[in-house]
Amino acid sequence: MVLYEGKAKKILRTDNENEFIVYYKDDATAFNGEKKAEISSKGILNNKISTKIFENLERQGIKTHYIKNISEREMLVKKVDILLLEVIVRNITAGSFCKRVGIEEGIVLDEPIFELCYKNDEYGDPLINEDHAVAMGLATRKEIEYIKNETLKINEVMKKFFLDMNLKLVDFKLEFGKDKDGNILLADEISPDTCRLWDKDTNEKLDKDRFRRDLGDLLAGYEEVLSRMSN
Ligand code: UDP
Repeated sequence: MVLYEGKAKKILRTDNENEFIVYYKDDATAFNGEKKAEISSKGILNNKISTKIFENLERQGIKTHYIKNISEREMLVKKVDILLLEVIVRNITAGSFCKRVGIEEGIVLDEPIFELCYKNDEYGDPLINEDHAVAMGLATRKEIEYIKNETLKINEVMKKFFLDMNLKLVDFKLEFGKDKDGNILLADEISPDTCRLWDKDTNEKLDKDRFRRDLGDLLAGYEEVLSRMSN
């Protein structure tokens, strides 16, 4: 039974009340849903890529919702209540950050930037600060501190993971959720839909910017990322 259907994924109920299935769809959207397309087999690639990333993070001691991969498009996960926060990390300038502060794309930042957005499609997921998040009851101060610490660890693990494949991790988005015991787990997906990944030598973009900015075949980029993971 479908519990929730989002832009790129569906969440399905299972017989176990503490477990959900994440089903990866082929839909691609950008600019808060204004640009749309169905890209055959994107869901399969994102499920495979996300699986490899979650498995690597788990091996490095990061607590995530991931349990196992169960089919081409499906991942079994722990049930969590998703916090209404999107966490963004930036290592290199790109995207909305460049537009907001008037800096050019591709500048390596002196230290990673940790950003919070309020998960609210109607308002385009606006940027907020930690005080806003606490005051709005999106998370407690302690939870935000924990999320920030985990996020910086996750960034280090992921940067190394991708660099070993000759990819630069430019920026990415994370979501966290709370399980039935109140533990905060890394949730959602981690894929080229949610990370900017550039080839280390040529800066070729292998992520969703190919779709956002019509930079070339989206699938070819995602397949390249997956094939480097498999080597
Ligand atoms: N991102 C995402 N979902 C969102 C917003 C951003 O996965 O709703 C990812 C995006 O793919 C990029 C990073 O978060 O890797 C930073 O995105 P940015 O704020 O630059 O926004 P964008 O340029 O994607 O609008």
